[in-house]
Amino acid sequence: MNQHFSGSLFMVAAPSGAGKSTLVNALLAQEPAIRLSISTTTRPPRPGEEHGREYFFTTTEDFIARADAGEFLEWAEVHGNYYGTSRLFVEEQMRAGTDILLEIDWQGARQVKKQFPQAAGIFILPPSIAALEERLHKRGQDEPNVITRRLLAAGGEIAHAPEFEYVIINEEFPVALLELSAIVRSARCRFAQQAARNASLFAQLGIHAEQHD
Ligand code: GDP
Ligand code: ADP
Ligand code: 5GP
Repeated sequence: MNQHFSGSLFMVAAPSGAGKSTLVNALLAQEPAIRLSISTTTRPPRPGEEHGREYFFTTTEDFIARADAGEFLEWAEVHGNYYGTSRLFVEEQMRAGTDILLEIDWQGARQVKKQFPQAAGIFILPPSIAALEERLHKRGQDEPNVITRRLLAAGGEIAHAPEFEYVIINEEFPVALLELSAIVRSARCRFAQQAARNASLFAQLGIHAEQHD
């Protein structure tokens, strides 16, 4: 992220069922200034999911054509389906200074970090593997074989937690939400973000933003 972007970029990753979407939705309800990037996926919609709300659902053929055309800032195969982030959406929001949150897997986070080194990586952990399994069953939206596949993949995702700056253990939901909110708020107070958002105040106070490294 270049100095002149006043918005922050957040990437939230977790093994499936850790509570990522529930936490992110609760954060967005209390911080409406953050925009969630809606990914495109080849996964079939779950009951209740709407095209354009949770995801843009598409075919594998269309997804691959778009990936080849460079439409995705990052894309990856996760649990046998393709997922990608719209480059246009992220770049437009970044230019406008809007905070953006990406719900992506570790492979995607790695690709974004290469392009936006200031992006804040947040990894959500379940309090135990048993809790993860229980939450996947409780959500009740995936077929048993899909749940098994996601549980088997959990270790692989968790192995990449060390690549993220922040870790939240989602045991008590309100505590985890408070921690996520604290991370977002602290990122907004970074020198570069404050200098970009308050350029005239910084100038008035004689602060030279270019001296900051
Ligand atoms: P349509 O595909 O012809 O319906 O055109 P749209 O204007 O609805 O969107 C074009 C494509 O851009 C979509 O299919 C998405 O892949 C992508 N896109 C649009 N808005 C967003 C957004 O808010 N987030 C993300 N990640 N992608 C978006
Ligand atoms: P993910 O997006 O990581 O796959 P979800 O947000 O769909 O996970 O959460 C999986 C399930 O766990 C949901 O049914 C959700 O209500 C539940 N859940 C989330 N956080 C907690 C928590 N702290 N304690 C108990 N259940 C939780
Ligand atoms: P779900 O099918 O449960 O919604 O998501 C499954 C996995 O795909 C999660 O680990 C989620 O982070 C990841 N994912 C969702 N959208 C994207 C995306 O745009 N890019 C990448 N790389 N991963 C994504």
